[in-house]
Amino acid sequence: MAEQGQRGRRSFWTWGWQEDEPTPAQRLEVADLLSHSYGVKISVPEIPRIENIELRDPRITVPDTLSSVVTTDKTERVTHTYGGHFLELNRALRGDFEHPPDAVAYPDTEDQLESVLDWCDGNGYAAIPYGGGTTVVDGVSVPDSASGAVTIDMERLGKVLEIDETSRAARIQAGIFGPDLENALRPKGYTLRHFPQSFPWSTLGGWIATRSGGHYATNHTHIDDFVESIRMVTPQGWWESRRLPGSGAGPSPDRMVIGSEGTLGIITEAWMRIQKRPVFRANAGIAFPSWEQAYTAIRHLVQAKLWPANLRLLDPEEAGRAAGLDGKHALLIIGFESSDIPQGDLIRFAVEIARDNGGLIEDEQIQISGGSNETTGRDGAVGNWRSSFIGVNAGLTNGLGLITDTFETSVTWDKWPAFDAEVRDRVGRVLNETFGKAHTLSCRFTHVYTDGPAPYYTFSGMGTLGGEAEQWQAIKDVASEVLLTAGGTITHHHSVGRMHAEHWARQTPDLHEKALRAAKKTFDPNSILNPGVLFDP
Ligand SMILES: Cc1cc2nc3c(=O)[nH]c(=O)nc-3n(C[C@H](O)[C@H](O)[C@H](O)COP(=O)(O)OP(=O)(O)OC[C@H]3O[C@@H](n4cnc5c(N)ncnc54)[C@H](O)[C@@H]3O)c2cc1C
Repeated sequence: MAEQGQRGRRSFWTWGWQEDEPTPAQRLEVADLLSHSYGVKISVPEIPRIENIELRDPRITVPDTLSSVVTTDKTERVTHTYGGHFLELNRALRGDFEHPPDAVAYPDTEDQLESVLDWCDGNGYAAIPYGGGTTVVDGVSVPDSASGAVTIDMERLGKVLEIDETSRAARIQAGIFGPDLENALRPKGYTLRHFPQSFPWSTLGGWIATRSGGHYATNHTHIDDFVESIRMVTPQGWWESRRLPGSGAGPSPDRMVIGSEGTLGIITEAWMRIQKRPVFRANAGIAFPSWEQAYTAIRHLVQAKLWPANLRLLDPEEAGRAAGLDGKHALLIIGFESSDIPQGDLIRFAVEIARDNGGLIEDEQIQISGGSNETTGRDGAVGNWRSSFIGVNAGLTNGLGLITDTFETSVTWDKWPAFDAEVRDRVGRVLNETFGKAHTLSCRFTHVYTDGPAPYYTFSGMGTLGGEAEQWQAIKDVASEVLLTAGGTITHHHSVGRMHAEHWARQTPDLHEKALRAAKKTFDPNSILNPGVLFDP
C-alpha cells in the first residue's frame, strides 16, 4: 500500500501536514520574541529525523489478506502515535514514542474496514479510530495496557456521496477533511457551515464522535444540530439510523453515537443537513470599557434572540493580544449572515443593544455586504482577530519551553460572574506558583446561549524544559477542579478523551455511566474500541 494518506504526509510535531510545519527561521523568530518577553535565553531544539526515532517493533503480524490495507511502516506508526495536545506534540518533538500503534490501517471501502475490525476483535487488539488526529484530550493514543494496537485512519473514506437538494442534506463519508467537504458542496452552492478552529486538519467523523463546536456562536453551534442520520460499524455488526428531520420515537439513537468518541463503533458516513452559502453579511467589532459591561451586553443580546452567526467576546487581555486593542477594553464581535435576507437591520438592532450597555462603536465601523449592495464600513479589530484565530500553529512554540493551553466550559448565567472570579482566582494562584508573575490568563466566550455562556480560558507561561508535563498537570488539576465545583462542565466542545475521563465520571449521573458501560458491552463485548476513552472498560 502507498504508505501515506491521500492528503500527503502528516506532520508528527505540529497540526496538519508537513507543509504546515513552520520553518526554522520562523521558530527562531518566535524564540527571540519569547526570550525578550520572559528575559530568558531560549534556544530552538532540532526536530528529530524519523529514521533516528527509537520505536519498539510491531507486536503483531499483518495477515496477507489485509496487507493492502494495513501497514507497519515506521513513519505511519510515528505520525499516528499522538493527537494534537501541546504536550503530545512536545513529546513527539523530544523523540519520545513509548507507545506507538503496532500498525496503521487505511481502509478504502467499508468492507475493508469491517475486515480490519474483525481482525482486531478476533485477536484482542485495541482498535483506535483516527480522523485528523487533532484531539486535544488524549483521544487517539495507545493505552499502556494494550498488548497490540491498530490505528484505523479514516481519510480514504472521504467523499461526499450524494446531495439531496430537496431536503437540503448530503450523504458524506466520515474521513473527509473540512476543506474537502466544503469544496465538494461549493459547486452546487451549499455549505455544511461547521467550522471548528481545527477545520483544515479535522474530519467529519471526528466532529461527530467528539460533538465538536463550530465557530458559529449561537443557535446551531455543535455538530449535533446538523446530523440527520449516522452509519457506523461495530464489532457486533452495522448500526444505521433512519433519515428523519425530527422524531419523538424514544431516546434518539443518534444522540447515543454523537459524542461516543470511537468507543462504540466507527462512524463511516452520515447524512448531514446542509444550507445555501451565505451572500448577505454584516459584522461589527464593539469595544467595551469593562469586562462586566461586555458580558452584560452579550447576555442581553443573546436573550433578544437575534441569533447572530458569530457572537464572540474577548476579555481585555485577549482583545489586546488577538485583536490589537489597548489591553483595557473588551471586544465583542458580532456577525450575521444569510443566503436570502439582507442583514443590515439585524446588525443595527444588535449594535443598539451593545451601545445601551456601554459598547463603543462608530456607525462607519459596522460592515455590511451582500446582494447588489457594495460593502460598507470597515473590518478593523474583527479582521485582526480573524487572522490570529485562523493562523494558529502549535509548531511555532513547540519545544521552546512555553506552556500554553486552554480549558473550556459552559455555565448558566446565574452562576456567572462568580464562576469567572473563582476560575481567575484559583487558576491565577497556581499560575503564580508555577511561573511567578510572568504568565497570562485570559478568557473569551466561544459560544453563547440564552441561559449561559461557553467561556474558553487560555493560559501561558515559560516552563522548565523537560518539566512541562508536571507543571502543566498542576495547573490542569486546579482548572478541572474549579470548573466542576463552581458549576460548569469539564468540557463544552473539546470532548472527554482520556484526559477528562475522571471529571466526566464526576459530573455525569452514575446510572448514565452504568448505562453507557452496558451499551459498550453490547456494541463491543471485547472492549477493543478506544479503551480508556470516556471510561476504563
Ligand atoms: C488547533 C485546534 C483547534 C481546535 N478547535 C476546536 C474547535 O473550534 N471546536 C472543537 O469542537 N474542537 C476543536 N479542537 C479539537 C478537535 O479538533 C476536535 O475534537 C475534532 O472534532 C477532532 O476531529 P478529528 O477528525 O481530528 O478527530 P481525531 O482527533 O482523529 O479523533 C477524535 C476522537 O474521535 C474518534 N474518532 C475519529 N474519527 C472517528 C470515526 N470515524 N468514528 C468513530 N470515532 C472517531 C477518535 O477515536 C477520537 O476519540 C481543536 C483542536 C486543535 C488542535
